[in-house]
Amino acid sequence: MNKLVILVVEDDLPVRNLITTTLRAHDYHYLTAPTGETAILEVSSHNPDVIFLDLGLPDIDGIEIIRKIRTWSNVPIIVISARSEDSDKIEALDAGADDYLTKPFSVEELLARLRVTQRRLAAMQADAAPPSVFVNGMLKVDYAAGCAYLGETELHLTPIEYRLLCLLSQNVGKVLTHTYITEKIWGSSWDNDVASLRVFMATLRKKIESLPDSPQYIQTHIGVGYRMIRV
Ligand code: CA
Repeated sequence: MNKLVILVVEDDLPVRNLITTTLRAHDYHYLTAPTGETAILEVSSHNPDVIFLDLGLPDIDGIEIIRKIRTWSNVPIIVISARSEDSDKIEALDAGADDYLTKPFSVEELLARLRVTQRRLAAMQADAAPPSVFVNGMLKVDYAAGCAYLGETELHLTPIEYRLLCLLSQNVGKVLTHTYITEKIWGSSWDNDVASLRVFMATLRKKIESLPDSPQYIQTHIGVGYRMIRV
């Protein structure tokens, strides 16, 4: 039995029913909210563990809801958007969303996103203090020593590659937008920073991925950003 309580914020009844039917079939508990106002009320009164949030709601814009919730809560938010434009996803992620699903999505995709979020939640609860060593498959980052390894071999990373690896590993499972990454690494997000990011990501991948063209650790979200996956 999954003890998580999931809040489903969606005004479109067939989509809401699809999500709740799926959750029920997998023993998740859930609450529903058809509007932004009821969503904020549910979050503040029932403190759900995960939120599925439709961006196009009749009363309040989804991005606005994320910003409001983020003023007091770190609850994982998975955005559901009918809009295929990357700018909406980017805006939602930059406002504090953790992940996104684009309509139409499959039940498998929905469950996969939920599992990723569940693993992140479990990791967050397991170590209240951030771990000093990060291990993911063959990859190991020793934050305290400032070193990274692939298996037993120490990786020779440039300072920027190392900072990129730290940023991605500290946010494992979460999609980080180009803007977020470049601001963390360079303190700015000009177009040429995004171009540089692509170059550094390519050199980092060459060092950590056995097949840089089909990466195992770092996923590309075209036009959006990057995510480190738990392997
Ligand atoms: Ca909608």
